[in-house]
Amino acid sequence: MLASVGSGRLLLSEVKTLLLWDIDGTLITSGGAGIRALRPPLNELFGIDAALDDIDFAGRTDRHIFRQIFTRHGIPDTEENFLRYLDGYLARLPAELNNPGATILPGVPTLLAAAAARPDLTQALLTGNVQRAARVKLTHHGLWDFFPFGAFADDAEHRNDLGPHALRRARAHTGGDFSPDRVWIIGDTPHDIACGRAIGARTLAVATGSHPVEALAAHSPTAILADLSDPAAFWRLIDAP
Ligand SMILES: [Mg+2]
Repeated sequence: MLASVGSGRLLLSEVKTLLLWDIDGTLITSGGAGIRALRPPLNELFGIDAALDDIDFAGRTDRHIFRQIFTRHGIPDTEENFLRYLDGYLARLPAELNNPGATILPGVPTLLAAAAARPDLTQALLTGNVQRAARVKLTHHGLWDFFPFGAFADDAEHRNDLGPHALRRARAHTGGDFSPDRVWIIGDTPHDIACGRAIGARTLAVATGSHPVEALAAHSPTAILADLSDPAAFWRLIDAP
C-alpha cells in the first residue's frame, strides 16, 4: 500500500493481510450439536416434530437455515418467529456442545495463535452463525478471544453479502484498508469460495467439513488443503506474493 507522507514522497508501508475464518467444518466440528439444538424448540414453540435432516445446512447462514425450516413446515416466516426460534436454539446449544464429537479441528489452535502474534496480520470471523451462536461455539472450545470482530448471519441472510461487512469492520478495527489480494476467506464449502470471490479475495478451501478436496476443487478456490494440520503449508499459501 502506498502512503502519502509529509514531504510529498510516497513510501511503501507495511503490507497487511486479513484472514477471515469460517467456523463450522473449518475451525471446529460440533458433533451435530446445531441440528440437535434446533429440534426441541421447533416442537415446543411450533408443535412440529421433525428430524431436520432434509435441511441444507453446510455453508448457509442461520437466518437462511431458519427460513428453510419455516418454509418446509408451514411456519409463518416472521421476524418474531425467527427471534423466538433463535432464543430456543441458543438456549439448547451449550448443553448440546457437550458431546464427544464436538472438537477443534486439527492444527487450528496453532495457526490462530501464530496469526495473533503477527503484527502484519489481522484475523476475524466470516460465518453463517449469528454472533451469539458463534460466541457460544467458540467459547466452548476456548477460541473466541482470537477474534476481535466478524461478519455474522445478523448482518445478512446470504453469505455472499457478508464480505463487505467484514471489510468495513476490518477498516474500523485497524484504521487501514486491505488490498483484496491480501484478504483470505478460509472455509469448508463452495459457499465460502463464492463469498470470497464476491469481494475479490483469495480463498483457501479446507476439506475438514462436508466437502472432500475434489468437490471443493470444482469451485476453483485459490488454494485447497486437506486440513490445517501443517502450519508450514498454510503459511506458504497465505504469505505467497
Ligand atoms: Mg463451514
